Amino acid sequence: MADITAEETKTDIKSMNRQELRAYVSGLGYPAYRADQLYHGMHVKLKQSVQEISNLPKDMRSFLEGNAEIADFETLACLESEKKDTKKYLFGLGDGNAVESVWMRYRHGNSVCISSQVGCRMGCDFCASGIGGLVRNLTPAEMLEEVYAITRETGERVSNVVIMGTGEPFDNFDSVVKFIEMVSSADGLNISRRNITVSTCGIVPGIIKLAELDLGVTLAVSLHAYSDEKRREIMPIANRYKIKEILDACARYFELTGRRVSFEYSLIKGVNDSESDAQSLAELLKKSRSHVNLIPVNPVKERNFRRSDIKNVLQFQQILEKKGINATIRREMGSDIDAACGQLRRSYGQNTKGEMADEGICGN
Ligand code: SF4
Repeated sequence: MADITAEETKTDIKSMNRQELRAYVSGLGYPAYRADQLYHGMHVKLKQSVQEISNLPKDMRSFLEGNAEIADFETLACLESEKKDTKKYLFGLGDGNAVESVWMRYRHGNSVCISSQVGCRMGCDFCASGIGGLVRNLTPAEMLEEVYAITRETGERVSNVVIMGTGEPFDNFDSVVKFIEMVSSADGLNISRRNITVSTCGIVPGIIKLAELDLGVTLAVSLHAYSDEKRREIMPIANRYKIKEILDACARYFELTGRRVSFEYSLIKGVNDSESDAQSLAELLKKSRSHVNLIPVNPVKERNFRRSDIKNVLQFQQILEKKGINATIRREMGSDIDAACGQLRRSYGQNTKGEMADEGICGN
């Protein structure tokens, strides 16, 4: 059986898929079914400690406790919107960093928006997440734990996952793919891949790579402007990839996967929300027959951007619809709980851990 000597760094067994876990467990001298029990305990029962997986032998549990990591994750804050249909979480990671996740209740089910990185190096002007740059990538286990912790806290099943929180998913490609495989696996939460959306700011090689993997997930691309010139004003990544290259990659995604790409468009007052912006966007997208999700941008304290007036938002939508482009306005929610990407994490950085913990109101 296992040699009970503590390793310096604990092994991240929660990021292992079932095959990898079987190999690890068999290396410890236990049969494969013990790996399956462990996997089930972590990914179906959502246990946070090996001691709670009581069908494992005692000696195996004590070895794993000293040598393996299954969740170094704590809820630092949880804020609930007045309508009680949105909860924003701030989770503390083992190394002192923190990430945000958002839970939203819809008629069709519960959706969780997760972060894929601590910080982000894409630097979009209207986003609080990019202000401090990239700190590090999240592991598959940390992304899974965002979904698991929310499932435990709400006591409700998550049916949709959107990888649209802090971070650029294609900047952490392999871990994001592993997360998708594990969260959608029948051995885990079994969330349908049709209900998983990966949102990119337009990293062309990432779009192609995801298309070639054909995972069956939805791809959303943040466009936010109809021309390269305008896009460059608010998104530094536009200096790297042109809109034409992005649209060609999206066409390739459709060709290889049969799934139409949707576009995100954050409406910023006086920047990209005019009638002519809408006309030009409609012209650009008329051939793609893609869905456009309009997002009235949440104001970010550190930036001067303001949210478009509701009149402009509705007019923008009507112009797109008239040109045959299906456009929805993202449900107005959560601005009362600082729901703009990255804002809660930034306010955490400016407060002490204790102060944030006192602000947590979920469940009250
Ligand atoms: S919008 Fe997304 S890609 Fe852009 S800085 Fe924010 S997290 Fe990064």
